[in-house]
Amino acid sequence: MYYFPPKVLANVEIPSDNTTGAAQTNRRYARMAISFFAVDPVQVERALRAVQERQGRGENVDFLTALTAAKILSKSQAEHLRLEKAPADQAEEDASRRRPTKFDPAAGAPAGDLTRIGPYRILRRLGAGGMGAVYLGFDGAGNRQVALKILSAEQAPKQNILQRFQREGRHGALLVHPNIVRTFGAAQDAETGLHFIVLEYVEGITALDLLDRAGKLQIGDALHIILDIARALEHAHKSQIIHRDIKPGNILVTPSGLAKLSDLGLAKRRDDPASLTHATQGIGTPYYMPYEQAMNAKMADERSDIYALGATLYHLLTGEVPFPGESSLEIVEKKAVGVFRRASEINTEIPVTLDEILTRMLARDPASRYQTASDVIVDLERSHLAAKIPSFVQIDSALQDPVVVERLTSPVETTQPDLQLQSAAQAKKAREQQIWFLRYRDPRGNLVKAKGSAANVLERIKNGTIPANAEASLSAQGKFKPLGQWPEFQTGLAAATSREPEEKANPAEAWAERSGRGRWLWLAVAAAGIGAVGLVLTTVFLWVWN
Ligand code: ADP
Repeated sequence: MYYFPPKVLANVEIPSDNTTGAAQTNRRYARMAISFFAVDPVQVERALRAVQERQGRGENVDFLTALTAAKILSKSQAEHLRLEKAPADQAEEDASRRRPTKFDPAAGAPAGDLTRIGPYRILRRLGAGGMGAVYLGFDGAGNRQVALKILSAEQAPKQNILQRFQREGRHGALLVHPNIVRTFGAAQDAETGLHFIVLEYVEGITALDLLDRAGKLQIGDALHIILDIARALEHAHKSQIIHRDIKPGNILVTPSGLAKLSDLGLAKRRDDPASLTHATQGIGTPYYMPYEQAMNAKMADERSDIYALGATLYHLLTGEVPFPGESSLEIVEKKAVGVFRRASEINTEIPVTLDEILTRMLARDPASRYQTASDVIVDLERSHLAAKIPSFVQIDSALQDPVVVERLTSPVETTQPDLQLQSAAQAKKAREQQIWFLRYRDPRGNLVKAKGSAANVLERIKNGTIPANAEASLSAQGKFKPLGQWPEFQTGLAAATSREPEEKANPAEAWAERSGRGRWLWLAVAAAGIGAVGLVLTTVFLWVWN
């Protein structure tokens, strides 16, 4: 689910008021298309103007159909928007709060009113996400309100989506922390077959809502929220979970000012290959995710979450994202370069310390970033800039929350970096920088020696310039083992081998053949050269002779 920040939406010149109902609906759909599906705003705007013109001439044109015809939206995306309640319809929103939630059969849910799911009573709708909608529910047994995230029946038959939803439930259940929205469980409703996740109900608003209201946040408030989410990340990372979608829209802020990380829909367990969708697809939200994740979601690790947290902090402090752009491609290209405006240039109240923290969080190269969330917490705490209670919170409400009271009354003690996490991260960084020694035989049987970083070796495996049967070692005199026996290269080798069929089943053979082809080419060029020189010499000789 993409959420484009309001700033960017504001840049899109969706023509303003033109009072007819159709024009307003078109405009709403245009904004939703950009916001939900990250489509190119310029194309949407062009389509919108064309449709408005045709409607102005009295033609019966449907804007969503026009977006599909122009291939800006897929049919199912257009349908999704058609079924989505237009957000500006406040009256309708209010009305829906008063009556029991009605499930629209067209939206894939069963016909009729669904007032219960599993043992929970459904009270009202709280919001919609990428895979379904979230409802306020009542848990009679626990005598408490809960949030019920229900996978839409339209999405459930898609195996990858269902698996992702179930994984979200499992990952959530592993995380119990005051700064993470609690997952109580996940189940399938026996009667309707709908899949759902039961979550702690957080009565509050998202950090994106706060940005919408204020444009940007006070420094103390922004740091308070980010510090809370850094604590959430510290806990998640310790539990081997990478969130992969940190953004203002996924931070819920309670009336007591506690920030809670939500939406584990894209989270993965470290080293769990099943957590991946398409390895080459950069899932997540383009404005906040780091370059390496945009290139390949598989590359995301703890440091990618730290980057996204940095991008979120930047947005909260300045009201702007560090790498703005109107299309995912434009944003990613800027991230590839990695240069962004210093936050203090946009908001002159921002002190140098914060610029420095942001530079380390948003470093292009993961090795130059903070390596752990604990390191981020230490620097944020040392800055003493975070508000104890955010300015937008009523002190009375804050003091009713036991977690807030505990934090306010516990002795001031700066967090020490988590040594276990830190040493794991340092070990990872050291391994990335390590030099590998390689040896292998070229097609003529000569022993070749080479060396390079793991990334270097992987690149060469990928482009076939070293054979799969090469041996590697971490020192020149060390124990050499076949590449396939080093975990660092197993995935790369497997990928290279699976790509081979159109060439040769065995990468070593393909490599040898490629090299062999090269050798014949060189021989042909050399023979042609010798022939040409011979011809010139003969001509000169005959000319001198005569
Ligand atoms: P997305 O995929 O858009 O991030 P989610 O499916 O996680 O969305 O949630 C959609 C919306 O539902 C959120 O923006 C929020 O307003 C609301 N919401 C989600 N979880 C909760 C919760 N635990 N308590 C209260 N509201 C929630």
